[in-house]
Amino acid sequence: MSAATNISWTQHTWNPWRGCTRISPGCKNCYMFTAQERYGRDPRVVVRTKTWNDPIRWQRRAEKDSKQEMVFTCSWSDWFHEAADTWREEAWDVVRRCPNLVFQILTKRPDRIESHLPVDWGSGFPNVWLGTSIETNDYVWRADVLRGIPASIRFLSAEPLLGPLPDLRLDGIDWLIVGGESGPGFRPMDHSWARQLRELSLAEGVAFFYKQSAAPRSETGTYLDGRQWREYPNYTPLEVVSR
Ligand code: SF4
Repeated sequence: MSAATNISWTQHTWNPWRGCTRISPGCKNCYMFTAQERYGRDPRVVVRTKTWNDPIRWQRRAEKDSKQEMVFTCSWSDWFHEAADTWREEAWDVVRRCPNLVFQILTKRPDRIESHLPVDWGSGFPNVWLGTSIETNDYVWRADVLRGIPASIRFLSAEPLLGPLPDLRLDGIDWLIVGGESGPGFRPMDHSWARQLRELSLAEGVAFFYKQSAAPRSETGTYLDGRQWREYPNYTPLEVVSR
């Protein structure tokens, strides 16, 4: 879990807890469910993992090399899941202790963010990017909630994109990731839906990252209209870390 990752827009994944409950259509084919069931575990039970020291180790190395590294949190859960409420303060403390790591926290529960931020959050920890997932137009409200929360970087993940998002606004958003569903039973994504989001990003000056088309395997069809779109938000991490 907490090792090098194959998610194309990050370097590590950290899962201080694993297990989750489905909350919206994007969860239907959640790979965590399949993987946990293969291990004979109940994926709906949220449990602590033994990976809490991993970020500290990555931090030591990154600091020694004067580098900054990206860490995607909770690929096997949701950072703001209610079952993790008793552990989150401790997890925020790990984030505080790792200024050379940038934690990318992506949630399908943005309505729980504000009430579960640490007391010293202020205008947002410099090493935390906050994001939410939007799979259909019924969930663009998640972006509206997110844009009201102070954060160094706010991002949206439209993956798996299951329909067009005509009501999406990008003001207050720094980064938009778009991708089709991958894996067994993947649902289709019309490229016109992705194109519309790319045009919106270009018009609004928001970094656009096209991850993949809908396909049986991840990272398949990474081109959209003949080119890769791998933009990142405007963020100068080492300057921020040294403030
Ligand atoms: S919120 Fe994420 S981890 Fe939880 S069930 Fe949905 S897709 Fe899976």
